[in-house]
Amino acid sequence: MSTQKAIQISKTGGTEVLEINQIPIPKPQPGQILVKAAYAGINFIDTYFRSGLYPVPLPFTLGSEGSGTVEAVGAGVTKYKPGEQVVYYGSGSYTEYVNVPEKAISHIPEGLKLEDAAAILIQGLTALTMLRESYEVKKGDTILIHAAAGGTGLVLVQLAKALGATVIATASSAEKLEIAKQHGADYLVDYSNGEDEWVKEVLGYTKDGEGVEAVFDGVGKTTFEGDLKVTKRKGSLISFGNASGAVDPFKINRLGDKNLKLLRPRLFGYVATQEEFDRYTQELFGYLKSGQLKLNIHKIYPLEEIVQAHKDLEGRVTTGKLVLKI
Ligand code: NDP
Repeated sequence: MSTQKAIQISKTGGTEVLEINQIPIPKPQPGQILVKAAYAGINFIDTYFRSGLYPVPLPFTLGSEGSGTVEAVGAGVTKYKPGEQVVYYGSGSYTEYVNVPEKAISHIPEGLKLEDAAAILIQGLTALTMLRESYEVKKGDTILIHAAAGGTGLVLVQLAKALGATVIATASSAEKLEIAKQHGADYLVDYSNGEDEWVKEVLGYTKDGEGVEAVFDGVGKTTFEGDLKVTKRKGSLISFGNASGAVDPFKINRLGDKNLKLLRPRLFGYVATQEEFDRYTQELFGYLKSGQLKLNIHKIYPLEEIVQAHKDLEGRVTTGKLVLKI
């Protein structure tokens, strides 16, 4: 067999541009590991590549992470052997065989199932690195986490609680807020009631109504203005995604009103080196092992149902993580 199935786009747009194509199975180059994929994690970023919000060269194979079994290794690779179970991140994971560089792969710890492993890296590392480096969350802080019942949101809630923060969680329904609560959120705010209302509620949960130490916002366009209102003087606003669309252009002198820090981090900038990737990945596995972090798989979709998976994610009907069975 020399070809494999791959979910690709040859033009950008809605879910109608998703194609299942046959493409060659690659050979591992020096420093690469060829993995026979079992599962791919589905992330909101995949929809940005598909829609054109984040431009990519076309045709493009979608998917940003996955899990599977080592099939072959390229020259110079000594740490991995055929048959071992691995988890990895990087582009092109919605395929049957994925070539991964050594600095973006890790062995799956004992006891972690392949489908769970595919659910952990991108959202888990994003949450962990932001809580450590975008704003270092400390015991006693009160922080706001938007879309708290989503994949990244539920990891943020659990890790922020493990670090000792008080968590105010937003989501668009009572059912979603209940899930955030089950994962440790202290205060629940339905932000579908409009900005004036959610801003008032969030401030009401903070000391003297002064606002939160930090906001973690993957929603983007619709929440950014409210974020400026609920962030405390000298606080941090971490805008890390665009689920509702990209944030509108912004005049930086507005930050001076409260001496706010505004960050727009990307995961890859925090795990760029082998040392950073290994250290954060091991720390994340540690949280899983200790039970402080629980995975929440919304649904495992067969590869043929990728259209439905993207529709569900963009349609806000999911909580936790979506996984694709390859
Ligand atoms: P989620 O599972 O969180 O799904 C997105 C959630 O956003 C929805 O469930 C929904 O929750 C909320 N939302 C609010 N407004 C909208 C809207 N108009 N359309 C769709 N959803 C909306 O996805 P992920 O965990 O994969 O990603 C969350 C965010 O984190 C994304 O913005 C993503 O790009 C970002 N991200 C950024 C990374 C980085 O490196 N910077 C890395 C990983 C993720 P509700 O119904 O409760 O509002």
